[in-house]
Amino acid sequence: MDFKEYFVTEIRDESEDVRTFRLKRHDGVIPAYQPGHFFLLQLPDSTGKPTHRPYSVASAPWEDGLQFCVKLKGTFPTYLWKLKVGSRIMVSGPYGIFLLNPNDTERVFVGGGVGISALRSMILQTIREGKKSCLFHSAHTKEGLIYYSEIKALSEKNPHFKFYPSITGENRPEGWDGLSGRINVEMIKAKLESLVGKTFYLCGSKEMAGSLAISLASAGVPKERIKKDEWG
Ligand SMILES: Cc1cc2nc3c(=O)[nH]c(=O)nc-3n(C[C@H](O)[C@H](O)[C@H](O)COP(=O)(O)OP(=O)(O)OC[C@H]3O[C@@H](n4cnc5c(N)ncnc54)[C@H](O)[C@@H]3O)c2cc1C
Repeated sequence: MDFKEYFVTEIRDESEDVRTFRLKRHDGVIPAYQPGHFFLLQLPDSTGKPTHRPYSVASAPWEDGLQFCVKLKGTFPTYLWKLKVGSRIMVSGPYGIFLLNPNDTERVFVGGGVGISALRSMILQTIREGKKSCLFHSAHTKEGLIYYSEIKALSEKNPHFKFYPSITGENRPEGWDGLSGRINVEMIKAKLESLVGKTFYLCGSKEMAGSLAISLASAGVPKERIKKDEWG
């Protein structure tokens, strides 16, 4: 694994426990990557020993630097939360096989919580390609629907891209006109009319992406049209 030196150029709070980090190299070089790839971020652990974890890239390849959207859960994110603009971090990549199939005619993205990171990059690419697509994004609260405003604006500007947000918890803002509950096949069918000819990209917990992949296959979606990235 070849780690290169990057610097934090921006830190944005997306919610109480989710942050976006923008990283750049001093020479400005961005490694060639595709939406869906992940990178290894490396920082010293509490004993000073270098340790790394994989994070999906949230930026699109033509954007400035590499953008990562991280939830503060587990050990490694606590090291990331200590970073400031200007801090040094080692990065290796890209890696991974959760990539868009260029032959898709229509794409359905389904994300749970911070699983939106890889999907943001994929959606920007799909819109650029002029292909039809939609996103079902679920989170426990409205605040957990990371990138909500940006994605809503994209759906308003691009008639080929539809956005179906869903809140799984009890607390919905007044006037909430999105979906409620975990994304399931019935919900998807109700919005899409048919599952035929579409490729599904699922990203989130094993529980969410794994169970939805099984239900989509049972509903007749061919296995090669169901791609998932599960993170535990
Ligand atoms: C391909 C890939 C892409 C990924 N992309 C992203 C991404 O874009 N954004 C992102 O945020 N993560 C992403 N992850 C997960 C990320 O790599 C880390 O695993 C995650 O940030 C947790 O850090 P950790 O492994 O040090 O946690 P660990 O400390 O090893 O904990 C592992 C898990 O145990 C649980 N856990 C640990 N401590 C607690 C606690 N105190 N309370 C409750 N539960 C706890 C959590 O579920 C945690 O995720 C990705 C993983 C993979 C494999």
